[in-house]
Formats: sequence, C-alpha cells, structure tokens
Amino acid sequence: MKLLLDRLTATPTPYRFETASGWWRAAQPARHGLPEEPSEPFAVELLAHRIGEDVYLEGSIGGALEFECSRCLARYRHALHEPFRLVLEPAGSRVPAEPEADEALARDGMCLGEESETGWFRGEEIDLGAFVREAISLSLPVQPLCREDCPGLCPRCGAELARGACGCAERKPESPFAVLGTLRLGSSGERS
Ligand SMILES: [Zn+2]
Ligand SMILES: [Zn+2]
Repeated sequence: MKLLLDRLTATPTPYRFETASGWWRAAQPARHGLPEEPSEPFAVELLAHRIGEDVYLEGSIGGALEFECSRCLARYRHALHEPFRLVLEPAGSRVPAEPEADEALARDGMCLGEESETGWFRGEEIDLGAFVREAISLSLPVQPLCREDCPGLCPRCGAELARGACGCAERKPESPFAVLGTLRLGSSGERS
C-alpha cells in the first residue's frame, strides 16, 4: 500500500489497494475469537493530494470478517466500513517522542501524531499498511454480537432464543433457592 509522494499534486488522485491473502494473518498477533482471514479481502480506497507541503489522505477501509457471536455462538459476517482522514506534515529533522513512531517513520515513511488524523511523513514514499492494520484492529468488536439485541442462548436448554421461545420460561421453574434452603437447614442442624 505504497504512495509515491512525488506523484501527488494539488488535485486529489484516487487510489485503490486490495490486501492479498495472508496479509492480515501475518500482521496480526493471535487473539482469541479473531478470524485469521477476512471473508472478503480488505480494500482501501482513498483520495490523495497535497496542500502545500502537507499530504492529505481521505478514504475508507472496507472488507468483511466472520465472527462468532459472543451470546448465541452463531457465526456471522461482520462488514467493515471504516472511514479515515489523515493530514501528514513533512517530518523534516524532527524526531517523534515515541520510539514506536520513530520506527514507523523510518520503516513506513509515515507515523501518526498524538492527535488522531495527523502525522508526519519522511522520504519519497509512504506505506499505509501499518496504519490500515491499526485502523482495522481498532474497529473490530471486542464483544462480537450477531445483532445488537441478540437474545443469546437459553441458560436452561441451550436453545437459540433468536429462533423462538424454547418453552423453558413457560414451565414453572423450580426455585434455585430450594437447594440452598436444605443446605442451610442441614448446617444449622449440625451446629446446634
Ligand atoms: Zn447472536
Ligand atoms: Zn430453554
């Protein structure tokens, strides 16, 4: 995902990048429940132009991943549409305060600043890969849900409640405190 900076002018130029298979897995530390491959390759579409010395990027990241719903455990497709905007200033001889940003500037020709949507660039080309990866990671659900109001599974019979009532709630439930009651009676009996 490289942009050659000397090609950029004041007129916004469209770019489109698509990730190859393995790109996501190679870059991603294993995280429980996180798919290793997107079900649709990630695609980055953007417009790039210069404003004076600054590089201005605006676009969006698309794609889809398959997640397991944390409530009903069903697999579902999570579509990704992550808009972004970045203004990169020439780094010049400045050195980023954070070592990670300094490394990124040397490796990718760009790094992000402390404020979102701003950063620095250095050199002839910038590689957006690390930025895109980070933006995708931040957009992924921490608690995946197949839908906002997923009712999950019945705690008694395990039925998927989204498919309809399982009938458990209609039966008169045995009080869970009945067991506690007998335990309490037993222990107090021993004590006396
Ligand atoms: Zn669900
Ligand atoms: Zn049930």
